[in-house]
Formats: sequence, structure tokens, C-alpha cells
Amino acid sequence: KHTIPSDIEIAQAAKPLPIQEIAKGLDIPEEALEPYGKYKGKVSLDVLKRLERQKDGKVVLVTAINPTPAGEGKSTVTVGLGQALNRIGKQAIVALREPSLGPSMGMKGGAAGGGYSQVIPMEDINLHFTGDIHSITAAHNLLAAVIDNHLHQGNALDIDPRRIIWKRVLDLNDRALRNIVIGLGGPAHGIPREDGFDITVASEIMAILCLALDLEDLKARLSRMVVAYNRQHVPIFVSDLGVEGALTVLLKDALHPNLVQTLENTPAFVHGGPFANIAHGCNSIVATKMATKLGDYVVTEAGFGADLGAEKFLDIKMRAGAMKPSAVVIVATIRALKMHGGLQKDQLQEKNLEALHKGMSNLEKHIETIEAFGLPYVVAINRFISDSEAELSFLQEWCEARGVTPALTNVWEEGGKGGEALAHAVVQVIEQKENHFKPLYELEESIEDKITEIVKKVYGGQGVEFSSLAAKQLKEIEQQGWGALPVCMAKTQYSLSDDPKKLGRPKDFVIHVRELRPRIGAGFIVALTGDILTMPGLPKLPAALQMDISSEGVISGLF
Ligand code: ADP
Repeated sequence: KHTIPSDIEIAQAAKPLPIQEIAKGLDIPEEALEPYGKYKGKVSLDVLKRLERQKDGKVVLVTAINPTPAGEGKSTVTVGLGQALNRIGKQAIVALREPSLGPSMGMKGGAAGGGYSQVIPMEDINLHFTGDIHSITAAHNLLAAVIDNHLHQGNALDIDPRRIIWKRVLDLNDRALRNIVIGLGGPAHGIPREDGFDITVASEIMAILCLALDLEDLKARLSRMVVAYNRQHVPIFVSDLGVEGALTVLLKDALHPNLVQTLENTPAFVHGGPFANIAHGCNSIVATKMATKLGDYVVTEAGFGADLGAEKFLDIKMRAGAMKPSAVVIVATIRALKMHGGLQKDQLQEKNLEALHKGMSNLEKHIETIEAFGLPYVVAINRFISDSEAELSFLQEWCEARGVTPALTNVWEEGGKGGEALAHAVVQVIEQKENHFKPLYELEESIEDKITEIVKKVYGGQGVEFSSLAAKQLKEIEQQGWGALPVCMAKTQYSLSDDPKKLGRPKDFVIHVRELRPRIGAGFIVALTGDILTMPGLPKLPAALQMDISSEGVISGLF
């Protein structure tokens, strides 16, 4: 049995090309590249304007079954597929999200792919990168400060201090900041009120950055954000406070996509990372669009499983960007399927065809979902060393019996070479299968109908139950004229239902919508089901405990 070095050791041993060379390979003009050091750069949005008439490359979305603690490796497969497409002679670009420091220091460790399919420089990408997330923190908190200053200076807008919905943000997991009291200390120190912190990637500004088409659209969206309600319950917008200009100034660089490369020098945009729990969970539209103009294939991913990530990618992002995907890759692992079949994490090493068979129901549901969107797809089996031949052939035969194209993928261990079968399968379904892509619902439908449609067609549930608060909010949203916005579901990623313990393919369940949150700047209505936290906490043993840096500056433990 051979041992594979850790992700960070592999990344540190890589030989990256100067970023100028990666840009040159894509015909990006010199003046459009703003290098951030040797191996990172921002590409000006002028490139998008210049290539407006250029034919679009094909967008391939990588999604997955419902995540389990066993891991699915969606980012790894995304990077690996990009590398593999280049190996088989297609010009491919990868588009990924920027990792947040919260999860990196907390549960997950880094998020730049894994094994021999990573984007580099992985330390930078996982740490402060090009400062986009910090810019969002600054813009978000500037707005918070302006609101409290407005109260302090006489409150001309008659903002109800109990109805301020704009909180503060920090890009770390810190549960102690979820609920706080501010403005203590007497009249010179502001108006006391309850407040709280969210993680930066849950900020509406992050969602906006990822959906904005250009600087003007960014500013217009920022001005439409609702920050509070006045004493007559009328919404107060950023435009009422007049700071959309300042917020846009703080975000001017963050809007430009970040160009990096994979371990095999495949170009990769890593840009924007909205929290998949509460927002739409995909990288920016400008990065994906730029990649479609510069490459023949764009391989991109959406957070969590197909019930959340793919649905929001297809109903929100593709619609906002007026884009059409060409194919979907559904990532599954034997290990995760066995967990969906009832096994515990410590039982996954052993062959268990019965559990695997049972767990297939989860994959089956996600296949049906992608079919409901009318898209060609491939099932990528992300191979782990512990997988047995018997289990792998069971999975392959299961797919073939249903007319589904399976592709055994070994990109973690072998890089692009291990993804060639997947790359060929993707090219083949795009060329041979018909594409009838259509979003799931029409925007004109009511918010209630949109949610019901998602619950029935994507989750496989019976229906929706709205809390009395949510029912009241449904009316208010329609009254405000926000009813034609898409819905952004906030649900547990672990189950098709809103109960994280119901794995596999639960049936006969109802989804409980607790609350609706209008995110008018982002342009969607968030529907909260179950307990979704917007400020995570750290686990008992945070990933941060493993991290270190040597006297030579070599980082370890970032996975
Ligand atoms: P996701 O995008 O689904 O969260 P990642 O691609 O980030 O998953 O992978 C999570 C972790 O699992 C990474 O540390 C990665 O190195 C590891 N991993 C992914 N695929 C494999 C594999 N086939 N074998 C072993 N480890 C893997």
C-alpha cells in the first residue's frame, strides 16, 4: 500500500507557471491582467466587454449526492475534470468559489480541491487570497456603522432600532458573537440595541458580488438592499442612507475575477464564495461568464448536493446571468452511498453491497432532479482507495441498467489522467444528448408556489408547511412587489428533507418554512427551513489546532 502525501505537501511541491503565462495562454491582453504576486492575478471586466460577441464555451456544473461526513470530493472532481479535459485536447477552465476562513479554521480545513487535483497556491487561496472577502467585511461593516450613526445623529429616517436587519460580519466562526448588545456606555456612544454577527460569506454583499454583471449592476444591487424598517414598517433601503457609492468603492477590486491555476497549469478562476446555507453557493457570474468567453469548456461547482447547490445554480445563477449549462456531473462515492444506506462512518472500510444498494436511492433522486431540469448528465464515481472492485462494478452496473453514463474517476490519486474517462463521457453527452434546459419554475409564480415546486420536484417531499410568521411574510413580500423574485432555499445539506438525520431518500415528509428573508439586492427571497445558522461555531477540536508555520515560512496542517 502506497502513501499519498497530504494536500498541502502536494501543493507545495507543484511547479506553477507565472500568472502572466496562464493569462497569455487564454489570450488575455497584458493590460487586462493585474498580478497579485507571482501566481495570482485579477482579470479586468473589460475583457468581458471586449469579448461580448464571442461564442460561449460550454458550462459543465459539478454537483453531488447529499454530503455525508464521508466526503464526496466535489471540488476535487471539478479541478480534476478541468485538468482531464485539457489532457484530451479540449480547452477547459475551472471556476470555483473562494474559501472562507471560518470553515478552513473550523471543521473543514482548506477548500481548494484535493490530492493531485487542486488549485494553487493553495495556502494563499485558503487564507487572505486577493482580499476579496476582507473587502466585503469592510463594506458590510461600513453600512452597519452608517446605520448606527444615523440613529445617533437624530434618526431622520425614523428607523425602528428593533427592526434593523443589517447585522455585522466577520470571516471567522465565532458563536459568542451571534447575539450581542451594542451602543452601551452612555449618550456619547450611540443608541443601545440588540445586534449580532454573521460570517462574512453569509453577507448579502457576498451574494450580490457573485450575481452582479458589472460595476453599475453592483452599485444598483447594493442600493436596493433592505437594512431596516421604520416605525410604520416601511422598508429602509441602502439608497435611503446614500452609501451605495461608498460600498461600491470598497468593492471595486473585489468584483474582478481572480485567476490562478491547477497543479497541472489548467487556468482556474476562484472568485466569490456565498454561504451555501443561506445564499446560492456558487462562484461569481462574472468569473463563470469570463471563463465561457475564454475557454471551450468551463467546469464549475455549486455547494452541497444537487437538491441545494444545483437547484440554486440552475434557478438563480443561470437565470441572473442569462446563461445555459451544457451538462451536469453528479459526484458520488461508494463511501457516502453506504452511509446513505445506513452505515456509520467507522464501518465504511468494509465491503457492504447491501448498504450500497440501499444508499443508491439518494443518487437516484438527484438523477431525477437533473432530468427534471432537462440537462444531459454523467455520474462521476470518485474513487477512494478503500473501494472494493465488487462495489465499484455494482455501482457501474446500476448506472448502466438505467441508461445513466457512469465514469470511474481517480483524479485525487492521479490528477487529470485519472479523469480522462469522465472527460470523454462529458464531451460525449454534450455532443449526443439533447439539452432541454429549463429552470424549474417561472418567476411570475407566487413565492409559495415556487417553494412548493422545489419541495415536490427536487426534494421529493409531500408539501410545505409555513409557520405563522412565514405566512405573514409571504403576504408582505407580495404586497411589497417582491413576489417575482426567485427563491433561495436554506435547508440542511445532509438530507433531502429538513431533518439532517433522514439520509437516503426519505419519503412522505413535509418541509417546514420557518421564516422568509427578502434579499432584494441579491435579488432573491431566502426561505429558512429548520435551524440554519448564519454564524457557525468552532468544533471542540478546530482545524486551527493542526496548523503551524516553520521558521522558513512553510505552512503545515492546512490539509
Ligand atoms: P467537497 O467539494 O465535496 O467538499 P473536496 O473536493 O473539498 O470535497 O474534498 C474533501 C476532502 O476529501 C479533501 O481533503 C480531499 O483531498 C479529499 N478527497 C477527495 N476525493 C478523494 C479521494 N478520491 N480519495 C481520498 N480523498 C479524497
